[in-house]
Amino acid sequence: MPSRRLILGLAAALLVGSPALAQTRTVAVTFDDLPYQATTEALCDPARTMALTRDFLAMLEPLDSHATAFVNTGKVCEAQAATLLPAVLNAWLDAGVDLGNHTANHINIHRITPEEYLADVDAGAPALRTALEARGRTLRYFRHPYLFTGDTREKHDAIAAGLAERGYVIAPVTIDNVDWMFADVYRKAEQLGDEALKQRVGEAYVAFMTTVLDHFEPYSTGITGGREPAQILLLHASTLNRDWYPQIDALYRARGYSFVTLDQALMDPIYSHADTYVRRNGISWLHRWTETDGKPIRWEPDPPAWIVAANEGTVEDLAAAVAAGTAGP
Ligand SMILES: [Zn+2]
Repeated sequence: MPSRRLILGLAAALLVGSPALAQTRTVAVTFDDLPYQATTEALCDPARTMALTRDFLAMLEPLDSHATAFVNTGKVCEAQAATLLPAVLNAWLDAGVDLGNHTANHINIHRITPEEYLADVDAGAPALRTALEARGRTLRYFRHPYLFTGDTREKHDAIAAGLAERGYVIAPVTIDNVDWMFADVYRKAEQLGDEALKQRVGEAYVAFMTTVLDHFEPYSTGITGGREPAQILLLHASTLNRDWYPQIDALYRARGYSFVTLDQALMDPIYSHADTYVRRNGISWLHRWTETDGKPIRWEPDPPAWIVAANEGTVEDLAAAVAAGTAGP
């Protein structure tokens, strides 16, 4: 759509030098690990899974998020899959969220062959296709579990070729972060019924996401030669985001972002950059492109030590830390 590009370009040109320049920022938000980041027990209980889903979508509804969500169809209990899985997928689609494949079982490519990986991609597709095609839509997006794209050249290339052959568009991530780590600590605080701790985790999450943006905004201009690209934010479907995502939305809007669809974000020329990065870690595409462009990677900030410790420990460890006054900043 060159006309739209031209209009955006003109708008950007007119705004140069004014504080309103930041208004041209865009981001596509993605939520991974549907049906939900929850215990197996919860995912085997249709009433609980649907309540988690409905509450999350009720939170998103007023935010005009244009989100895309990525599904692990195998995470729903087998006994419930035939009815619960379509109900979850339809609820997300009814809420205006697009859906993509995240493999059936959130598998780790480092532990299996490309053939086994692609078989799990295929296993994740039928339920998604059924739900999307009933609405005249097609399954197009794929997001790699753990953002692992292959730890050897052979695996990387075999998976990329297999995904392309199946017609998938890979959904990269630029704003990578560890919302899942905060979400794990938040779930533990929920188990403890500790509202003050939940509040501290939520506030620490929003503060951390601010430092992540402080890092990635200027860093991303190193790849484009001075322009901030349309960003793609990775988050997860969790109780943390059910309760705190509105503050993440507000954080982005305060910095001049508008939320766009993944389709719109992917029109940014930065995404025509090839991903030839081969390593054993799941990282932002900004880092991949920085390294393959021959520049030094500058990593995003680490989460607070107390969040890392609470993520690594048990619920009992966290209760002990609360008692000792160390479960907080
Ligand atoms: Zn995932």
